[in-house]
Amino acid sequence: MLHRFHLRTNERSQMIDITEQVRSTLRQAGALEGLVIVYCPHTTAGITINEGADPDVARDILQHLNELFPWNHPQYRHGEGNSAAHLKASVIGTSQSIPFVEGKMVLGTWQSIFFCEFDGPRQRTFFVKVVL
Ligand code: ZN
Repeated sequence: MLHRFHLRTNERSQMIDITEQVRSTLRQAGALEGLVIVYCPHTTAGITINEGADPDVARDILQHLNELFPWNHPQYRHGEGNSAAHLKASVIGTSQSIPFVEGKMVLGTWQSIFFCEFDGPRQRTFFVKVVL
């Protein structure tokens, strides 16, 4: 079964911790061992895993991505005007796969799963698939 989640972002660039949604999906599935896939069906958003304990880490990631991919660049050609968001989405990627053992994701102490918005605010979707 594919679990669908909706979320509303409220900034242009934003990292939202979705670890608990993934964890509760896995709990409901009741599976002991396998892989959980977190996927977003967007071209200007992504999924990543990084430190969730200190919010400054997410802020530094977003700020540095802004420096690497400025919103306006004379060589962007994409007419919609959001090429920076597309570039960031490709660098971050659309999914993450996390192994789980004894019903628990094998995440490091400081690791959290983030939905990354690069062209908000918008209504967004992500999916969680438990693979046995
Ligand atoms: Zn676009």
